[in-house]
Amino acid sequence: MNKPFPLDTANEFVGRHIGPRAADTAAMLQQLGYDSLETLGASVIPDSIKDTSVLELTAGLGEAQALARLKAIAAQNQQFASHIGQGYYGTHTPAPILRNLLENPAWYTAYTPYQPEISQGRLEALLNFQTLISDLTGMEIANASLLDEATAAAEAMTFCQRLSKNKAAKAFFASQHCHPQTLDVLRTRAEPLGIEVVVGDERELTDVSLYFGALLQYPASNGDIFDYRALVERFHDAKALVAVAADLLALCLLTPPGEFGADVALGSAQRFGVPLGFGGPHAAYFATRDTFKRDMPGRLVGLSVDRHGKPALRLAMQTREQHIRREKATSNICTAQVLLANIASMYAVYHGPRGLTQIARRVHQLTVILAEGLRALDVTVEQQNFFDTLTLATGERTAQLHRQARDMRINLREVDAGRIGLSLDETTDRVAVERLWEVFAQPGQSLPNFDALASSATRLPQGLLRQSAILQHPVFNRYHSETELMRYLRKLSDKDLALDRAMIPLGSCTMKLNAASEMIPVTWPEFGNLHPFAPAEQSQGYRQLTDDLERMLCAATGYDAVSLQPNAGSQGEYAGLLAIRAYHQSRGDDQRDVCLIPSSAHGTNPATANMAGMRVVVVACDSRGNVDIADLRAKAEQHAAQLAALMITYPSTHGVFEEGIREICAIVHQHGGQVYIDGANMNAMVGLCAPGQFGGDVSHLNLHKTFCIPHGGGGPGVGPIGVKAHLAPFLPGHDRMERKDGAVCAAPFGSASILPITWMYISMMGGEGLRQASLMAILNANYIARRLEEHYPVLYTGGNGLVAHECILDLRPLKDSSGISVDDVAKRLIDFGFHAPTMSFPVAGTLMIEPTESESKEELDRFIDAMIAIREEIRAVENGELDSTDNPLTNAPHTAAELAGQWSHPYSREQAVYPGKTAVDSKYWPPVARVDNVYGDRNLVCSCPPMEAYQD
Ligand SMILES: *Cc1c(COP(=O)(O)O)cnc(C)c1O
Repeated sequence: MNKPFPLDTANEFVGRHIGPRAADTAAMLQQLGYDSLETLGASVIPDSIKDTSVLELTAGLGEAQALARLKAIAAQNQQFASHIGQGYYGTHTPAPILRNLLENPAWYTAYTPYQPEISQGRLEALLNFQTLISDLTGMEIANASLLDEATAAAEAMTFCQRLSKNKAAKAFFASQHCHPQTLDVLRTRAEPLGIEVVVGDERELTDVSLYFGALLQYPASNGDIFDYRALVERFHDAKALVAVAADLLALCLLTPPGEFGADVALGSAQRFGVPLGFGGPHAAYFATRDTFKRDMPGRLVGLSVDRHGKPALRLAMQTREQHIRREKATSNICTAQVLLANIASMYAVYHGPRGLTQIARRVHQLTVILAEGLRALDVTVEQQNFFDTLTLATGERTAQLHRQARDMRINLREVDAGRIGLSLDETTDRVAVERLWEVFAQPGQSLPNFDALASSATRLPQGLLRQSAILQHPVFNRYHSETELMRYLRKLSDKDLALDRAMIPLGSCTMKLNAASEMIPVTWPEFGNLHPFAPAEQSQGYRQLTDDLERMLCAATGYDAVSLQPNAGSQGEYAGLLAIRAYHQSRGDDQRDVCLIPSSAHGTNPATANMAGMRVVVVACDSRGNVDIADLRAKAEQHAAQLAALMITYPSTHGVFEEGIREICAIVHQHGGQVYIDGANMNAMVGLCAPGQFGGDVSHLNLHKTFCIPHGGGGPGVGPIGVKAHLAPFLPGHDRMERKDGAVCAAPFGSASILPITWMYISMMGGEGLRQASLMAILNANYIARRLEEHYPVLYTGGNGLVAHECILDLRPLKDSSGISVDDVAKRLIDFGFHAPTMSFPVAGTLMIEPTESESKEELDRFIDAMIAIREEIRAVENGELDSTDNPLTNAPHTAAELAGQWSHPYSREQAVYPGKTAVDSKYWPPVARVDNVYGDRNLVCSCPPMEAYQD
């Protein structure tokens, strides 16, 4: 009899996500001397924490099944017309940007552009963003995005404190006209630093000498537009700095902050084409004066030159601030919002100055018409001047009006019991205005006549009309047809190396597959079109999504509760330390402010501790890269009375499962401290061991590392924290949540609209698939370590000679013997078509390699072969066969232009550009040669240079 044909659809996803096939796995295991993944895993994970995993081994869903289930969840969200405003507005994402950028892996799978030679495309898009921002705000210099408007305001507060000459002042003034969520985050961030935030009406300020700085909102949250010129002067006379949170669309028509004396302009670029997405991710911007540029938080793209003097872009110096300045760092921002900044910049490229101005004019004119009509309906509009937002004095009718609006599937802003707020946006049209009139019309009143009101006079303040031109640079004036924009996007992404071309073996960054099925729901309108402050009953789909995810992440980590609010790992660290701080305070232990941090920690750790008002005490590491337990014990004892926390990364930043982790946690607990386990390396642990079960009190996870959210060229990210039950009451709150205070982010669920990615990943993998992925990540890393160790020493291994999910190659001896540096090797890898591993972190002069489970054995071998071929080239330098200064390594990477020109090197063109076994048919050509960082930092240019600079 024939075997029955299987009628159940098998779940193929696990096998799609994991790179190596069964035969490859067997071969790799054999190379390592293990007979199964299980025995390998058993050797790698220390006995003391084995089996702490609480992950239930439920089966995963197939791709189609998971998508169908998520679609049903999404359908529980209700898409009402949103007029809530308050920093979040409807917008049309231009279809070519949606398809060719947001949904294009060439853009979303790229890494942060630390390797500029393979990142010129996204660096150009970011430079456009910086140019857009400095242009619209009238400021001299802008950064390449921050996490959201509220955290950008918090960065501005500490920025003002650093730069103000009024050193005696301890207070920061924040206008009551700021968005409420901004004020909440300011309060959270000010408290541990001892800054007093004074919220008030700027029109009634008497003594400004109390303040080192001020935050104003322009236009005001309620819709008013104030002329701040005189006020800014008063603050300046008192040596205070002024930050202005400004709406980019309004700035197309209004005098920009830079022209009325502001020292900082900040805000959100959301309404430039980025969906509401229930609050994020969106790019925030931060712009300031040229003289303050070296103090600016976040990343900054700047112009430099390559080896041949050709203009080339790269991240300017403060990029690595946390790693260099550690606990003296002024901001912990690492992952930002690159993909969203790029969407906003392309929105401006596509619409150009005229298009943007027209959108702004239309939104304003519709608001004028709406206001006139409301007046005709006897509704009191509080604003004389406004751009797109009105506050209506609705008195006793308020609740009834909200009900009527909801019956018509319209959301209005709930200002207070007697007032309603209302904002219009790019998506508002005539019908929408007429429907709003319908909401407010009383029985018997006839609706206003739209056409009769169409030419009503503008209500922008005459004294604040923008006089300066915007976006004159050619880049904002060339790509207005879809064909041109499509090709521009293609041209830029072709310059870059992302995961869609080759593996990106960045240690600590976990550049794994971002599966298409995981990405598809991100742009579903059911997730995209929700305002973060929409009534709870409309966001039941999100509610289920976040409930599910919290449960899944508790299971993966062994913690009792999870907060999804933090929108990057750095923000998770911050929320985690605040929880620890609040816990100590709740027990009367206010004096506990010492944070122990091993010397090998990621730079965000000490920077975060500093922001949380803690004192950092560094703990030494031993020669094997482990925490020096004797030193830890001594420091914990010495600071016992003040001990607040230990921040430790596990497996360690050196890529090893330290045997002593339970003892380390116990020492800290014995002395009254809490244990923060940095979970960025969770990819080695899911399903194998659980930080919440082996001693951690709190951890953050990087969903953009372990849980498949793509890096987007440097963001977005999600950095949820898991906590044990005793810390749960201190998780971040939000005005829209049960716990009202302690918000670390503008929106209750931070970057909500990318959470479906992680939901899909976990649902499709199931418990067993996740465990499998962890074991395969460990196998792939050990396979690379084993095959490369005879060519480059592997710096640290566990007692068993094994690494966790990443390994560090020590290149320092080669530098001594050949003069070839870790930089040379990284750049030479580009000639082979690879992105470099993590350079000089956590140890200078090393490369840290993390392959992830998604890379196939073929790709691992291709990378290993490239590394071996490079080692042979280094040997040739060592023994004099290659020149010590003019060789393929020091000259790497090689461009096509160089090849076509005069060739004067003592090695061949073939060796330069087709080294090793790199297939000739898939050659990656870097658009620029090695970029000169020092030149760029000395001559900082951070907005688009005139087009001529690109020619010749
Ligand atoms: C990536 C990383 C972080 C920071 O995460 P972001 O999302 O970039 O803020 C913190 N710690 C470690 C060990 C990391 O690898």
